[in-house]
Amino acid sequence: MRLDLSGKVAVITGASRGIGRQTALTLAGAGATVVLTSRGDAAAAVAAEVTAAGGQALAFAADVADAEAVQHVVETTTARFGRLDVLVNNAGITRDQLLLRMKREDWDAVLATNLTGTFLCTQAVLRTMLKQRSGRIISISSVVGQSGNPGQTNYAATKAGIIGFSKALAREVASRSITVNVVAPGLIDTDMTRDISSDAQANWASAIPLGRLGTPEDVAAAVCFLASDAAGYITGQVLAINGGMYA
Ligand code: NAD
Repeated sequence: MRLDLSGKVAVITGASRGIGRQTALTLAGAGATVVLTSRGDAAAAVAAEVTAAGGQALAFAADVADAEAVQHVVETTTARFGRLDVLVNNAGITRDQLLLRMKREDWDAVLATNLTGTFLCTQAVLRTMLKQRSGRIISISSVVGQSGNPGQTNYAATKAGIIGFSKALAREVASRSITVNVVAPGLIDTDMTRDISSDAQANWASAIPLGRLGTPEDVAAAVCFLASDAAGYITGQVLAINGGMYA
């Protein structure tokens, strides 16, 4: 089945690289108009890739923790394209440290991007989706939010928080045909995980039943499915993309 997103407008946060970049390319490949955000100007290069391939894309420099910047992205998108169908809350960071050594700023920074960013972006798109009586909100959690990981109490709290946030919102907005789901990747080969040594990566891979790290394409395909008409009866769910880890 080929997923068709033509006529849909999708906002993807943190789309300059990794999972966000690939999600933008995959959704655009399925026919969506994509709106890409990143903290700096780097999403513009990905938007140019989409346009060069014949798609429609717009890029913004916008920190997801900055309410005004987020509002500007949403207002400009709806003014320009007349609708907003899909939000992918992808922007995320880590600041790893054992709890006793964790500084307040490591805690605050991770909460601001991963959890407050998800809250601000979702709240900003919701008015348009409620008026449309349709919408897809897809947030990227992590296996760490489900099972924990030493040195990542801050990150795990945000990724578990995204699951609770999404399950509550799914119930709030279901009557307006808006679905709210979570994708929980395992270990995915991106810049975020490239600092892990090759020995550690091999160790991880041996603990993954499918025997390899995931790719941004693996995650983007799941997001594309949840954004499509094929997933219209799925809401409040967590879809693990982890090669069978902890299954
Ligand atoms: P990455 O570091 O390669 O990319 C993160 C993107 O988010 C970048 O474009 C960055 O500029 C953007 N970003 C960071 N803070 C931002 C902010 N405040 N405002 C706007 N944009 C911001 O990471 P990735 O591996 O592609 O991860 C993407 C998402 O997937 C994250 O939420 C991450 O937690 C999650 N995830 C990743 C893995 C993995 O193994 N790579 C596993 C589970 C979950």
